[in-house]
Amino acid sequence: QSIACGGYFWIFPRSGRSVNVGVGVQAGKSNTHPKTQLYSQILSKPLFKDTEVLTAGGGYVPTRRPLDSLVGDGVMIVGDAACLVNPIHGGGIGPSMLSGRIAADVASEAIERGVLDRCGLWRYNREYMKAYGAKQAGLDIFRIFLQEISDEELNYGMKQRLVKESDVLRASLDGDLRLTITEKAERAFRSIRKLDFLMKLRGTARKMSRVKRHFLDYPEPEDFPAWRARLKTLY
Ligand SMILES: Cc1cc2nc3c(=O)[nH]c(=O)nc-3n(C[C@H](O)[C@H](O)[C@H](O)COP(=O)(O)OP(=O)(O)OC[C@H]3O[C@@H](n4cnc5c(N)ncnc54)[C@H](O)[C@@H]3O)c2cc1C
Repeated sequence: QSIACGGYFWIFPRSGRSVNVGVGVQAGKSNTHPKTQLYSQILSKPLFKDTEVLTAGGGYVPTRRPLDSLVGDGVMIVGDAACLVNPIHGGGIGPSMLSGRIAADVASEAIERGVLDRCGLWRYNREYMKAYGAKQAGLDIFRIFLQEISDEELNYGMKQRLVKESDVLRASLDGDLRLTITEKAERAFRSIRKLDFLMKLRGTARKMSRVKRHFLDYPEPEDFPAWRARLKTLY
């Protein structure tokens, strides 16, 4: 939270002796501009001594669950415009390409049938939610959890192996958080009055699974209002 407020920073190797370095932050959470944060907290590290910036840029990433519906009469929404991004790491290239492929497939079939209204395009909703949207929605619950906890809680959780790096990686791959909370760790948490964190973590894992199931159970157009109303209660 102190270096990349509500987000993370990265250093990816590129060809030769160059790297891609950046920082992603939660909008509106800190008064410091992310570019200032990048220079003062990351590029100031000894690793970057005597280096030069070759190219630079930035932008918004819609890290949340997908739009509830991706279609309208004669309209299909793909990629960032439909908020199709992995909420944990902000990777949106894969989901954008996937949504584009499914949308193109459904569009060509709809054009052949001559049915281009919302119902004619609905299959895109169902297929995207099944292929990636359900996982994304589950991960959005995890994202909210991670953005709400303090550095101290996260560090303690990691140290006690309540949340392991592998759990986070697995969650980002399949959208489920499977916890390995041992009795010993539970006792440690009780003794330092961090039971609240443990309960939040358990509650998050359950909620992720409920939300993911809800998206896997994506409705037909006539049941959409009821599905959407139920989604609001799950969040
Ligand atoms: C700093 C940063 C780093 C990122 N790193 C990664 C990463 O490492 N991995 C990853 O998977 N994702 C990453 N992302 C996210 C990823 O870039 C996006 O999720 C992805 O590019 C979305 O694809 P898209 O096609 O939906 O939208 P875009 O790539 O934004 O494409 C939309 C296009 O539409 C054009 N356009 C806009 N308005 C109009 C108009 N009116 N008429 C015509 N054209 C228009 C735009 O110029 C643009 O070319 C990163 C994002 C940022 C900001």
